Amino acid sequence: MDYDVIIVGAGLVGLTAALACCHKGASIALIDVVHPANSKTDNRASAIAATSLRMLKVLGVAETIKTELQPITDMLIADGGVGDVSPLTLHFDSQDFGKPSGYMVENDVLRRALLNSVNGHKKITLIAPVEVLSVKRSSAAAQVELADGKILKASLLVAADGRHSSQRISAGIEVSSRQYAQKALVTTFSHALPHDGVAHQIFFPGGPLALLPLTQNRMSIVWSDKAAAIDAALAIDETAFIAELRRRIGNFLGDITLTAPRLTYPLSLQMAERYTDTRLALIGDAAHAIHPIAGQGLNMGLRDAAALADVIAAARSVGLDIGGADLGEYEAWRNFDNQMLGMSTDILNGLFSNNIMPLRHARRLGLAAINQSDLAKSFFMTEASGQSGDLPSLLRVV
Ligand SMILES: Cc1cc2nc3c(=O)[nH]c(=O)nc-3n(C[C@H](O)[C@H](O)[C@H](O)COP(=O)(O)OP(=O)(O)OC[C@H]3O[C@@H](n4cnc5c(N)ncnc54)[C@H](O)[C@@H]3O)c2cc1C
Repeated sequence: MDYDVIIVGAGLVGLTAALACCHKGASIALIDVVHPANSKTDNRASAIAATSLRMLKVLGVAETIKTELQPITDMLIADGGVGDVSPLTLHFDSQDFGKPSGYMVENDVLRRALLNSVNGHKKITLIAPVEVLSVKRSSAAAQVELADGKILKASLLVAADGRHSSQRISAGIEVSSRQYAQKALVTTFSHALPHDGVAHQIFFPGGPLALLPLTQNRMSIVWSDKAAAIDAALAIDETAFIAELRRRIGNFLGDITLTAPRLTYPLSLQMAERYTDTRLALIGDAAHAIHPIAGQGLNMGLRDAAALADVIAAARSVGLDIGGADLGEYEAWRNFDNQMLGMSTDILNGLFSNNIMPLRHARRLGLAAINQSDLAKSFFMTEASGQSGDLPSLLRVV
């Protein structure tokens, strides 16, 4: 074999998987059609759960982004209509739980740091930009033919090539999927008054609007709404957009200046029916794509990467062929968790993204009831910080 593992897709999940598998001793080829240094279409920031940050620490990535990590000190969740934000809000103060549940970081910052670490590893070969011409997977090996004429052989092929994964499609793995009638508009703004690390999620009838704190007194917005409303918010000029934003969030941040372009993202729920095939494992959005309502999609992918690294390490420790080893263990470990999270986000979005009066009253009362219950709040904080379930070793290390 040329490598232990070939990873197709050097997005945030593919880059992390390369580092995680290499940390467990595997040699890696990491392939992408776009070089990660030139990936210019992502203006998002991600909420990184506390456990995901643990893995980034072990992989030596967290240290290089520490000044750009914004702790989420508090989360405020409210039910709203324009100009009518519910007085019954749900409030998660990290001081009640001892430490932040998560940290915000811009995707480009994280991508750069992961890429730097990848470049520093002798056992990871990044090949990009390059097209994959063909893939053959058999009981003997996985073989990838590249457009530059190279042919690579490995024990295992990992598909980290996103929600439209061609590796998943060519393996004949079906997905169950549902396109939401919503889109998400993402941008960043700086503001005059401090955000104090507080993340806000306001549920409007068309979908949730999240304000997520970043370093240097900036906020990232993820505004999910009906496609027509998002198209309209994209078509208006910056001044009108800020005025529209103010109508929804009020003036508590003082003067606002947009610091990034407004980009939109289609939203869907998509679950692969299985995660493995002969010498193939799917990770990240190639396996599952969910609504961003809970900021968990990337965290799920990082857990996939950590779980796969553990399965590979276990195979190596007893001298087993990595790709011939029991990939079913990886499938069983991750598929159920991901299905549960995908379903929860779907239900949450359905429950909150409407203006039906009885439901609106119920959810306002529900928010208030959860707010009064330390037990319920502790449950949600455990989920948000990624501490529930059977954690892979890289997420457990303190
Ligand atoms: C608006 C929005 C906000 C979000 N916020 C959060 C959040 O706060 N927290 C969170 O945890 N998650 C969040 N998510 C989810 C998260 O962004 C995704 O789950 C994550 O980025 C998926 O990463 P990935 O590496 O699996 O896939 P991708 O980012 O899609 O990367 C796939 C890679 O594969 C490459 N590729 C594609 N096809 C090929 C091919 N044929 N050959 C070679 N390479 C190929 C691509 O160039 C790309 O580099 C959000 C999502 C959205 C839409």
